[in-house]
Amino acid sequence: MSGPRIGVLALQGDVREHVRVLGGLGAEAVLVRRPEELASVDGLILPGGESSAIDKLSRAFGMQQPIRSAIADGMPVYGTCAGLILLADRIADGIAGQESFGGMDVTVRRNAFGGQTESFETSLDVPAVGAEPVRATFIRAPIVAEAGEGVEVLARVEGGRIVAVRQGNLLGTAFHPELSGDTRFHELLLAAVRTAPRLSGPPRATGSPRA
Ligand code: GLN
Repeated sequence: MSGPRIGVLALQGDVREHVRVLGGLGAEAVLVRRPEELASVDGLILPGGESSAIDKLSRAFGMQQPIRSAIADGMPVYGTCAGLILLADRIADGIAGQESFGGMDVTVRRNAFGGQTESFETSLDVPAVGAEPVRATFIRAPIVAEAGEGVEVLARVEGGRIVAVRQGNLLGTAFHPELSGDTRFHELLLAAVRTAPRLSGPPRATGSPRA
């Protein structure tokens, strides 16, 4: 039996690192640039990179509406850093005209760690992925400035700022587990895919895990 098919939006950003993590977890990674490719996957990763560039390219490639529809239909999606920004219903400090796919009832502030701490690594407690702390890499990272009632806060940095959130099938981290080698957030995405209703493609082979 093959693993789930997980798309990685491959318009800009650290696509390859996500593909590597997915392969290590036994999932089939699919580069997604077109609506047909999106329609063939069971879950999606929005990589880190530059959110305004990914936003513009997604509109140029006719991907904004299909991704919004997939999110509305319940497709499990995991966004890291720029990907988290793209999942936010509201962006603070975006460039003029910057849009997101949305879906998470959060306000995400871009480039929220200024000056010397623009890039840094730290350990985070994330009970949702286990007792072992997460080694987290932040690169010109955003924070979640406001989270609505339906949003589960998974992690905060010292000082209390929110850096990981989940709402339904949507998962977002301000940091990059795909760079530090921690696979547990990707495993959360795969777990969500296993329990989500099948969105596309042929019926699951008998014996596939189900909710
Ligand atoms: N600062 C970037 C943005 O606004 C995000 C950085 C990242 O993904 N590492 O999109």
